[in-house]
Amino acid sequence: MNFADAIAKATRVGRAAAHATKSVAKTSIGIGVATDEQIAARLAICVACPGRHATFKQDGTLHTCGPMLESLREAGRKTCGCVLNKKARDLAEDCPFGYWPTTPTESTT
Ligand code: SF4
Repeated sequence: MNFADAIAKATRVGRAAAHATKSVAKTSIGIGVATDEQIAARLAICVACPGRHATFKQDGTLHTCGPMLESLREAGRKTCGCVLNKKARDLAEDCPFGYWPTTPTESTT
């Protein structure tokens, strides 16, 4: 990796970390928090991610969307690097590929 690439990567990581911090701060005080059903619906999709973008911890639990804290949207790959169990709690967040339902608890009947 050359210097320019390293700076670009550091910038992407910094932006993703700032975004994640803002989201977690907001939901931790109860602003824009998804329901338990919405969170479960989102995470169920991530576990079986149609694009195989989810990463998992060594114990098999769901972890991040692509490389941790590395938003690759600017690099054309779209993964956000978010910790998924945090991201799923924030109603303002969405799957970067549009795999999450817009209204996860909406009936299809
Ligand atoms: S947020 Fe979307 S792309 Fe990322 S792991 Fe979940 S379903 Fe896959």
